[in-house]
Amino acid sequence: TAPVFEIENLHVRFKMEGGGEIAALDGISFAIAPGETVGIVGESGSGKTQTFLAAMGLLARNGRASGHVRFAGTEILGLPPAELNRLRGARFAMVFQDPMTSLNPFLTVERQLTEVLVTHRGFDGAQARKAAIAMLERVQIPEPERRIGMYPFEFSGGMRQRVMIAMALLCGPEFLIADEPTTALDVTIQAQILTLLAELKRDSGMALALITHDLGVVAGLCDRVLVLYAGRIVEEAPVHELFRDPRHPYSAGLLASVPRADPAADDADEPPLIAIPGQPPNLQHLPSGCAFRTRCPHAFERCVRETPPLRAVGPGRTKACHLEVSPAEAERRP
Ligand code: SF4
Repeated sequence: TAPVFEIENLHVRFKMEGGGEIAALDGISFAIAPGETVGIVGESGSGKTQTFLAAMGLLARNGRASGHVRFAGTEILGLPPAELNRLRGARFAMVFQDPMTSLNPFLTVERQLTEVLVTHRGFDGAQARKAAIAMLERVQIPEPERRIGMYPFEFSGGMRQRVMIAMALLCGPEFLIADEPTTALDVTIQAQILTLLAELKRDSGMALALITHDLGVVAGLCDRVLVLYAGRIVEEAPVHELFRDPRHPYSAGLLASVPRADPAADDADEPPLIAIPGQPPNLQHLPSGCAFRTRCPHAFERCVRETPPLRAVGPGRTKACHLEVSPAEAERRP
């Protein structure tokens, strides 16, 4: 099937105030099939958010994107804002970590939800209100008929995120981008929101890109994972394969810092959680060769000289690393 969303050789550069430029994305390519859920994982500075901001025409003013971004086969990179707005909200939508960046604090939820339906669907006021209440019910907001008249600040953090998701889904988009949608929430609410996203996705058949720094979040929800580091894809794999056998040392490091999903497991048998040493990448001062080499336990001489290209290492799997074997295998070798 043709992809619903496709990025080809996307570069993003930012002009710095003091002069010079930094490359936030350095030629990434991937595609998402209809109905597929793809996790986009990496620390801050990896480029995971900039990828989608560039695609949605939402880059900061000093940013410049080049390459191709296609939605349902149509090039959308560089589309005039009015045309992009017509698609955004109607056929694809984005949910952010902080709903207050997208919800207007001075307007009631009713006003904000109905406006979307009036603008994109041509509903009249009564139709829009009915559909908005139904959607609030769908995202499990209690007493939606009463609460629709409230302002965003009158909702708890978790409820606000549900309102945001309701707003994103109002027009039945084919593709939803969720950027750290649960990071600001406590663990119980996080789990509820992720379950809700999984249900909504299953019922609607839309494709989902889930952007997160936390591999644990993608475990139960995603089909496939892309791991980004310093503006490049360093590994791509079906989710269960990545968890079973990460091929890139950075992915292996991220996985080692994921808490066990099963809290009943005997802790004494578990290896301790290991955080990846060093700082997330500083794009202004990347090392030569492999950008991860100053933090990589397997770095060797070639890593200083050559940037590893992304290459196939199995069906549906790629990695950008000079190691011929997986990090686990490299550790077993003398
Ligand atoms: Fe580590 Fe070298 Fe692989 Fe980079 S290329 S991840 S430094 S082994």
